[in-house]
Amino acid sequence: MSAPQVDAARGASAFDRHHPPQRALIDTCVHCGFCLPTCPTYALWGEEMDSPRGRIYLMSAGLDGRAEMTAPLVRHFDACLGCMACVTACPSGVQYSPLIEATRGQIERRYDRSFGDRLFRWLIFTLFPFPGRLRIALAPLALRPAGSVAPRSRLPANRRRATDSVERSTPGFFTRLRAMLELAPPITWRGLTARIPERTAAIGARRRTVGLLTGCVQRVVFPHVNAATVRVLAAEGCDVVAPAEQGCCGALALHAGRLDEARALARRTIEVFERAEVEQIAVNAAGCGSSMKEYGQLLADDPAWAERARACAARVRDVSEVIAELGEPRARRHPMAIKIAYHDACHLAHAQGVRQQPRDLLRSIPGVELVPLAEPDICCGSAGIYNLVEPEPARDLGDRKAMHVEAAAPDGVATANAGCTLQIAAAARRRGTVLTIRHPIEILDASLRGANG
Ligand code: SF4
Ligand code: SF4
Repeated sequence: MSAPQVDAARGASAFDRHHPPQRALIDTCVHCGFCLPTCPTYALWGEEMDSPRGRIYLMSAGLDGRAEMTAPLVRHFDACLGCMACVTACPSGVQYSPLIEATRGQIERRYDRSFGDRLFRWLIFTLFPFPGRLRIALAPLALRPAGSVAPRSRLPANRRRATDSVERSTPGFFTRLRAMLELAPPITWRGLTARIPERTAAIGARRRTVGLLTGCVQRVVFPHVNAATVRVLAAEGCDVVAPAEQGCCGALALHAGRLDEARALARRTIEVFERAEVEQIAVNAAGCGSSMKEYGQLLADDPAWAERARACAARVRDVSEVIAELGEPRARRHPMAIKIAYHDACHLAHAQGVRQQPRDLLRSIPGVELVPLAEPDICCGSAGIYNLVEPEPARDLGDRKAMHVEAAAPDGVATANAGCTLQIAAAARRRGTVLTIRHPIEILDASLRGANG
């Protein structure tokens, strides 16, 4: 490990007093190490300071003036995927999510990133949360000839694995840009211009009125997942409201420590769904769902919004939770004789504790067989913008996940997060494997329509 610079005599703290990681939460860690085997970065590098326990130790050192905000310190936090596998593994109930979010908030406010680093992050946060801009940026990819492949990494083989060096420097702008292109899915004009109706009536008697978060990247890159979600919810007796005025929910900003941006986007989302007067808000992207369920904490210090944020968060459900809560299925499931490997998206399984509902949703289809994946708790390396800003460990984790999928030999993979879909698909392409990856709701939709996948 490269230790953070410690200057006890000077007593300079890495964190200031504006929302630092909370001492009370840090002190719940009893240093038992049960979290270490499930931490992806510890699995890759075996470095204590790249484990949950090590990062919590660094937060503590930063808080009481034993560590300054130096590049090595920031690298240990940047390397964290925010996957929350440590939260699932921790017997002491350590709340790592508010700790890493507060730490990242401090880093984004107080650490002077390099020009290239700032430029790349600016590019991401100027494009991704804005569907209109993202459509324009992706339009040239729709001109790519069908079947053309994304560029491969030009990193020499001996630099391909982040494990080679404990001193991990910040990846350069063009390395990250290549990673972004490598992850890009096939883009079509039809997809770029697809829209879903603002209101879709329930088929048969209405059981519930459900809002749909259409997402920013989701609505541009995976509009078919939104369309399938609307069809399934309507078939199961829900009026579906997808307000056209909605924007990004703030998940990407929140996970990257851009807290003011995240709060502004959260306020807008809360307002939009209040106006929609829905009983629940269905979300079909795990990262967005986990952030929206955190709105109460995010806006807790804002007297004008705290209560509204809590009320909104209480209505948020992953779409598989909505289906499960509706009870007895109403729409007929047509049989599909397929073997599916269900990949738990970290922000669904670890952050929201939603594991059973998507599996039950898939098992409700006659003929579907679920096959287990090895290392189910280890992240695929997607993790919000992680695979863009930390492409090397992300690639290692993606390859590891694709290898486990190959070993399970399913007919297809199901996962409830757009980022995981892109990440596992890119890893499969690198390995020359052909993989069909679908959102569970798409598979259920295919069954309801009597289609074959
Ligand atoms: S969030 Fe994930 S990567 Fe970060 S410390 Fe926890 S297990 Fe490790
Ligand atoms: S399992 Fe929990 S208490 Fe134990 S070291 Fe990890 S974070 Fe700390």
